[in-house]
Amino acid sequence: MPAPDAYQQLLALSREASLLSATSALLAWDQETYMPTGAGERRADQLELMARLSHERATDERIADWLSQCANAPGDEPQQAAVREMQRDYDRATKLPGKLVAELAATESRAQQAWASARDASDFTEFQPWLEKMVALQQQKADCLKQDGQTRWDALADLYEPGMRAADLKNLFAPLRQRLVALRQQLDLGKKPDETFKHREIPEPQQEAFVRAVVGSMGFDFERGRIDRSTHPFCISIAGDVRLTTRFHKDNVLDALGSTMHEGGHGLYEQGLPTQHFGSPLAEAVSLGIHESQSRLWENHVGRSQAFWQWCWPQAQQHLDTACAGQSAQSVYALSNLVAPSLIRVEADEATYDLHVMVRFELEQALIDGDLKIADLPARWNELYHDYLGVTVPDDRRGCLQDVHWSCGLFGYFPTYTLGNLYAAQFAAAADESLGGLDQLLQSGDFTPLREWLHEHVHQHGRRYSPAELCERATGAPLSSEPFINYLERKLHHVYEIA
Ligand code: ZN
Repeated sequence: MPAPDAYQQLLALSREASLLSATSALLAWDQETYMPTGAGERRADQLELMARLSHERATDERIADWLSQCANAPGDEPQQAAVREMQRDYDRATKLPGKLVAELAATESRAQQAWASARDASDFTEFQPWLEKMVALQQQKADCLKQDGQTRWDALADLYEPGMRAADLKNLFAPLRQRLVALRQQLDLGKKPDETFKHREIPEPQQEAFVRAVVGSMGFDFERGRIDRSTHPFCISIAGDVRLTTRFHKDNVLDALGSTMHEGGHGLYEQGLPTQHFGSPLAEAVSLGIHESQSRLWENHVGRSQAFWQWCWPQAQQHLDTACAGQSAQSVYALSNLVAPSLIRVEADEATYDLHVMVRFELEQALIDGDLKIADLPARWNELYHDYLGVTVPDDRRGCLQDVHWSCGLFGYFPTYTLGNLYAAQFAAAADESLGGLDQLLQSGDFTPLREWLHEHVHQHGRRYSPAELCERATGAPLSSEPFINYLERKLHHVYEIA
């Protein structure tokens, strides 16, 4: 069969796999939003069947042959990129022996239950045997996936951030950690933002109308998406239809705004992927780090900027009414940038969040490389929290048992959160320069040029370039922590009135 046909065959199969994944996504979205509790058991069966059908397509024996035909007769550049990514997916889907896949799945579900119960009891020793088993399985998985020059940890991280290696991350993180710790100490001496607004009670319908208006202004397309509610906000794509969720607390409208802008940023990326390539890797998000950069850019660089609040404050007053009394754009801007080192990663502010991630990065690498005994994890965790965040961990529940990730086998995942922050800052700086100043645009509520810049430089490319190449093409420089830390220092020195 000549190569063009082989490529068409690959595309047809890949399209079916995408449709099946999208159907799973719809089932999963429903499960998290509207599904009645009694439907849980059958829903799990449905999801399992869909996963099996997707896997059958991803590992179809004909793929190897089609891929090698394509390699012998490469098409144009986008086609070559699509074939490269299909090869990557095929290798990943076929490299793990069936026995290991089954053992991982069984261990994940039981380890997660053990983790939840250990966390409730705040007792690491209950989770310890499961974590030992999970780490051993992850080491086996890494050995199957490992390519030339990769460490075991690198092989696992590559699943989430293609091409990223621990050695590169250490170089990015070391100078960043020093400056983040120094910044945290400086802010202790600065002028703390007024927290009155944070505690004002605002009815949910008012909060909802407000955050919907903001996400609409960002350019989220409600004709091809929805916003609903869930305990933990998320964004999921169902073949060109993008579902966001958010949450409301009576006394914390800034949490609802931040969460919705965050998920809205993810949603704009999904809505911006090129629909004409649906089913091909060219229409898929390139990495978790790049995905997270889109959410953090809107949540932080837009939503926590002074210029944004100058535009947003009148909108807030209109929707939130008396809750805004006695407050101003300036006071709420300052409050949205409050820094308070804490024990819990998901509650962390913008300036200390990455320190939480660095603790996990260091520890999981040591676990996977066998340099840290699992029994020593809680003590080492507590030590790093003291050194990086200056806080004392009182118990395992608020210490090393707080995150679900390791119990689900997600090793190499945490750093993508910090990568998201670094990419976001570098994209924001590049957009600022190319658009002749973002502040002016945000101040007038004109978000279109920023959204279009992101579409042109990030969204439309799907997986055509690696994350590193995408970053370099969009910003003219390899990824660095400088734009991020410079932005944070500049903003927080201003908010905290530090000269
Ligand atoms: Zn996110």
